Amino acid sequence: MTASDFASLGLAAPLLRALEARDYVTPTPIQAQAIPHLLEGRDLLGIAQTGTGKTAAFSLPMLQILAEVPDHAEPLRPRALVMAPTRELATQIGDACKAYGRHLHLRVAVVFGGVGQSPQVEALRRGVDILVATPGRLLDLMQQHYCKLDAVEILVLDEADRMLDMGFLPDVRRILAKLPKQRHSLLFSATMPKDIVDLAHSILHHPVRVEVTPQATTVERIEQSVYFVKKDKKRELLVELLDDPAFERTLVFTRTKHGADRVAKFCNHAGIEAHAIHGNKSQNARERALSAFKGGKCHVLVATDIAARGIDVPDITHVVNFDLPNVPESYVHRIGRTARAGRDGIAIAFCDETEHEYLRDIEKLIKKRIPVVGQGSAPAAPRPKPAAVPAPQRPKVVPADNPWHRADDADTTDEPVAAAAGSDRPRERQRPAPRSAPGPYEPDSRRPGPRPQGPRHERGGKPKGGGRPAQPNAVDPEQRRREPRPEPTPSRPPQHKPHPAKPPQPHPHKPAGGPKPHGPKPHGGPKPHGGPKPHGGGGHGGGHGQRRRRG
Ligand code: AMP
Repeated sequence: MTASDFASLGLAAPLLRALEARDYVTPTPIQAQAIPHLLEGRDLLGIAQTGTGKTAAFSLPMLQILAEVPDHAEPLRPRALVMAPTRELATQIGDACKAYGRHLHLRVAVVFGGVGQSPQVEALRRGVDILVATPGRLLDLMQQHYCKLDAVEILVLDEADRMLDMGFLPDVRRILAKLPKQRHSLLFSATMPKDIVDLAHSILHHPVRVEVTPQATTVERIEQSVYFVKKDKKRELLVELLDDPAFERTLVFTRTKHGADRVAKFCNHAGIEAHAIHGNKSQNARERALSAFKGGKCHVLVATDIAARGIDVPDITHVVNFDLPNVPESYVHRIGRTARAGRDGIAIAFCDETEHEYLRDIEKLIKKRIPVVGQGSAPAAPRPKPAAVPAPQRPKVVPADNPWHRADDADTTDEPVAAAAGSDRPRERQRPAPRSAPGPYEPDSRRPGPRPQGPRHERGGKPKGGGRPAQPNAVDPEQRRREPRPEPTPSRPPQHKPHPAKPPQPHPHKPAGGPKPHGPKPHGGPKPHGGPKPHGGGGHGGGHGQRRRRG
């Protein structure tokens, strides 16, 4: 593809100029596949997650379609509605629309809960072409008659499965009921559980289906490694790793909110500035943490899966799985944060004595062994038996002509606490994770049967109801099967090498003379990272070779 490819997708000059300013040269697969159809007015089912370029895939055509009709939005009556599950995602979408639409005269507003509504009401009163909203606040505004949806021409439901997880579907359905029947509808979801299949049926009309699942290729691009470490030594190991200046921008995942707080606190005591981000934090605290992390003022962000989801931070150098997720697909999502939009990254996992099974599940899913780099501070935790890693079982039974398959029946999550990050009505429930799938930029654009009766402008809107794809609701009847696991047996002895003595180097994470860590070398066991150094490879700042030892 060449620079002209965005133009060949049919995008207008003002949008091309905006893309050029952002140095977007090549459309991502979802953009290449979705944009031409969206410009024709087709409805779209996008099976894609954050990191695939989906925001531009729907924003660019939406902006172009709205700009083609020089109507100004009337007060309180937006022309396009984008619904997103979290404030962070809504804000990012709003920012993207503003950036891509900078040469157009369209007004964009973002509304979400947890903040005062007056500025949002003011924006709506002035007239908004594109309204990006979380469902709870939008309903509140509608109930107070500050927002009417009868002029909405384009609807985008982003991260629909996350809406489901957060208990937003009833709100979403109430909102959908207020939309005009004739409209252009898009739905994006990383997975397709049955409720989302049903929702898609109810709102999309002859949709184009575009599926971009980044797992496999993302995993290939990431240098992965695992430390076996005792549970109570993880924080010390983390601090030791973060002492390496190569960890320029590190996202640390914990399973719980309290865990995130504890880890961030420990890092801060050790003189490494870290912020925790999760659903118990106020909106302001989350925004401060995120902007410090994005701006490079703070090098370490500790997050739960839910809080991290939708956060678009480029140039994350390292992802640390402080706790291994009990849903293997979450591991793939997590480490994918360090390989956004074609970049590479480094992922380090800590595996304690209770997590061997999770590690095995992950290795089965990614179909490879994760190299062991050390034993943390723990007495050697045995490596789970190195059974050949079989291809992951994909109990998917999808009729070939059924475009609406569900991805998974699993009903697990690693976020046990009810409040969800960034939502205005946080009701997190267990979330099915996506199955492993083709690489990020490997499209699967199997499309549902008949195309619509001509492009949108010719159709003059769409009759609803007719022409659904065949067998729309086939549901995979099988639950994910977990094989019984043999007891872990020591198999791959840890490899240790004495760490070469290094002179102290200035550290970007810590102010000179900052507080001392809790015990600089608290663990007397083998050096945790003295073995092979899979995450110090070229292009990543030298990895552990530059580690600054504490004394
Ligand atoms: P998204 O999946 O929409 O959250 O996008 C993920 C990241 O990729 C964001 O930082 C976008 O700014 C970036 N991005 C989207 N499209 C492109 C593109 N065609 N070229 C380069 N970066 C892109």
